[in-house]
Amino acid sequence: MDSLKFSEIYFTEDAENLPLSKKIFALFKSARKIPVASAKELYFAPQNTPEEVTRAKKALFLTVKKNNFIEKCPGTKGHLCCNYFVAKNILGCPADCSYCYLQAYLNTRAITVFANTDGFLRDFEREASRQTIRIGTGEFSDSLLMDDVVNVNRSLIEISSKTKSLLELKTKSADVNNILKLNHRERTVMAWSLNPPELSETEEKDTAGPLERISAAAKCAENGYLVAFHFDPLIYFEGWEKAYNELTERLFAEISPEHIAWISLGALRYDPTIKPVVYARFPDSKILCGEFIRGDDGKNRYLKYIRMEMFSKIRAMLEKHGTNMRIYLCMESPWIWKQSFGKLPHDIPRLDPIFKTP
Ligand code: SF4
Repeated sequence: MDSLKFSEIYFTEDAENLPLSKKIFALFKSARKIPVASAKELYFAPQNTPEEVTRAKKALFLTVKKNNFIEKCPGTKGHLCCNYFVAKNILGCPADCSYCYLQAYLNTRAITVFANTDGFLRDFEREASRQTIRIGTGEFSDSLLMDDVVNVNRSLIEISSKTKSLLELKTKSADVNNILKLNHRERTVMAWSLNPPELSETEEKDTAGPLERISAAAKCAENGYLVAFHFDPLIYFEGWEKAYNELTERLFAEISPEHIAWISLGALRYDPTIKPVVYARFPDSKILCGEFIRGDDGKNRYLKYIRMEMFSKIRAMLEKHGTNMRIYLCMESPWIWKQSFGKLPHDIPRLDPIFKTP
């Protein structure tokens, strides 16, 4: 919380007097408060410049969303879908990862917080109760980094505990003290994305280090939570095999496989329009080094043989510690699945519940 600093808070009239807005105004007293008629006033113009993306990390936009807080992840053309539902209460993130797709995806000069928390929680409860789904808040923000401000995780965990759905809280924070003792009934999965420490230092600013994340996961596992890990984005660099091997060894030194709900592997992919932003904002970044091809979805990806090699080898590193874990590929084609895993996810019984359409 102490690390969160915002210099400007924009707000629409309908959000101004909501309890969450009042709390945020009180927490960040020195921030300039600026009324706006709508989000349109905050759109990047003409496009996301590096300076504006940086500034957007230090501004909040409080507004109201009427509905559709929950959406099925649209997946990607030609890639197998893992049937994930995305819960949107915050758009933007105070951390700063070089590869973060939000730098190109979001179009607003501030982190948007939908201040009508009641509406969000109502939508969440309805969707999580209506069907058995995996649903998470970590697609358009980090699930924990803003929770001292918005304070929704306690309610989400409680609601999920009464459903058959699984809530995933995906984060790069190591601060889990607020959620440890909640009555989650194993319907919340605490998840971390992991990259080797030497990459995290240059590519994941303002986040906890990967070893701290693993220790936080261990604390959650001790308190009965299922945990998950996303090796995503996997980054190809000289020495990657040794670095990922050391990381997986550290992971299993602290976490036993039976506590792991799933592990995803996803190779680096990015919208090419993000390149000038990354070059300017992260001059030491390794993410744009290497050879890429443009996929059907318009995103740049490593060449197929590189992806296949990374997936097969990292899967083997993980399976050294247990062969029953649910390890899956994120946004990959059936062809890559077959080459890297020998099978499609529907032919792997333990993965079928993830990939079966609810
Ligand atoms: S923590 Fe996640 S959402 Fe936040 S900047 Fe990094 S990749 Fe983006």
